[in-house]
Amino acid sequence: MQHCDTLIAPRWCVPVEPENVVLTDHAVVVTDGRITDVVPLADAREKYQPSVFIEKPNHVLIPGLVNAHTHCAMTLMRGLADDLPLERWLEEAIWPAEKRWVGAEMVRDGTELAIAEMISGGQTCFSDQYFFPEIVAEAAVDLQMRAMVGTPIIEFPTAWASDASEYMNKANDLVHDPYVDHPLISTCYAPHSSYALSDESFVELRVLADQLDVRIQIHLHETLAEINAATERTGKRPFDRLNQLGIVNASLLAVHCVHLTDEEIDVFVESGVNIAHCPRSNLKLASGIAPVAKYREKGVNVCIGTDSAASNNTVDMLSEMRMTALLAKACSSDASAISAGAALRMATLDGAAALGLAQETGSIEAGKWADLTCVDLNRLHSQPVYDPVSQLVYTARADQITDVWIAGKHQLDNGKLTQIDTDNLLERSNEWRDRFATPANK
Ligand SMILES: [Zn+2]
Repeated sequence: MQHCDTLIAPRWCVPVEPENVVLTDHAVVVTDGRITDVVPLADAREKYQPSVFIEKPNHVLIPGLVNAHTHCAMTLMRGLADDLPLERWLEEAIWPAEKRWVGAEMVRDGTELAIAEMISGGQTCFSDQYFFPEIVAEAAVDLQMRAMVGTPIIEFPTAWASDASEYMNKANDLVHDPYVDHPLISTCYAPHSSYALSDESFVELRVLADQLDVRIQIHLHETLAEINAATERTGKRPFDRLNQLGIVNASLLAVHCVHLTDEEIDVFVESGVNIAHCPRSNLKLASGIAPVAKYREKGVNVCIGTDSAASNNTVDMLSEMRMTALLAKACSSDASAISAGAALRMATLDGAAALGLAQETGSIEAGKWADLTCVDLNRLHSQPVYDPVSQLVYTARADQITDVWIAGKHQLDNGKLTQIDTDNLLERSNEWRDRFATPANK
C-alpha cells in the first residue's frame, strides 16, 4: 500500500481535460498538495493508504473555478452606486470614493472579503488588478488562495503612486520581484485601460514585461464610448494603438472586448491574445454583450471573470458561467452555442491558460496542484441528475459548494471556511460601510 494525504471519492468527477468526460466510481489522490492519481475507486482502495478519506456520495468534483478578472478590494463598494453607465459610474461614484478611502487597510479588508466569497463559491484562483497590490498578494498568501496579482499602472496620482514611473518601480520592488517562483502567487502588469497611459509608458511597459516575463492585463473595448473617445483623441481605435505599440501578443489578457471588428478578431487569433469575459458587469453597466461564441469559434481563448462586486454585484463564478452560456445562445440565435461543458471549461482550464497557469491548475490531472471544488447536487432544484455538468451550470447555486481544496489544503470543509474568521470579517465590512457612507464634507 502506498501512502497518500487525501483520497476524495465523489459520485461524479469532471476532470475537464480530457474534454466531455464524466467519471463515476473514481477517486482523486492528493499528496503534498498535488493530484498524484485519478483512478477507479476499487483500484484506489487496493493501492493507497490515505491519511484522510473523503466520500462525497451526492457530489460532483470539478477543478477549482478560475476567476479571470477581479478588483477584490472593491467588494467594500458593493451596492455603493448602481444603475449608472460605466463613465458616470466611474467619474461620479467610484473614483471619488476611492480618492477618499483607498489605502492599505481598505485593500486588505476588501480583498479578504472577496477571497472569503470566492472560496465559498468554489473559486481557487483569481486574477486581480487594484491599488496596493502588495497587500492583495499578502492577503492571498495569508488566506492561502492562488492569485495572479496585477500591479496597476496609470499616469495620474493615487494613494499608491504619483506617476507612471513610480507605479512601475513600486510594482517591481513590492510585487514582481518578491513573488518570483511563489507557489501560489504569479504577477502581471495591469495598466487600467488604453486611455490611462501615454504611448511612451506603454513602450516602457512592454520592455519591463518582457524582461520579467510577466503578463499584461488591461480593460479593452469595454464600451463604444471608450472606443469613440480614443478614436477622436488619437485617430486610432484602442486595440490598433496597443498593437502598434507592441502590447498585443499571447501574454496579453484583454478584459471585456465587448466590441471588436472582424479584422480585430483575426488579429486576436493570430497573436494569441486572451479575452476575459465579464458578462454580468457588462450587462449592469449597459456596456453591451460580447459575442463570445463567435470569438471562440474563430479560435480566441475566452475565459470568464466576475469583475468587481461594485459592478456585478457578487463575485460568483457559477452565476457568471450560467450567464455566459445563456447570453451566448441569445446573442448568436443558436441554442447550441456555449454548451454547459464549454462554459465549465472557460471557467477553469481556459482561465488557467489565460493566466499562464495551464500546467499548474484548471483541470483534474495528475501532476497539477490539487485545486478542487465539490458541489452537492442532492438539492430539489438540481434533481434528477441526468448530466452533472448540465446541473452544475444551469441549476447549481453557490450554497451547494461544500468543499474546496487549494494546493491540497481543505479550505472549505462541509460549507465552513477553515482559514477565515467570518464574524470578524463581517464586523470589518460593517465598519467600512459606515466610512464609505459618510458624506464627503464630514
Ligand atoms: Zn475590471
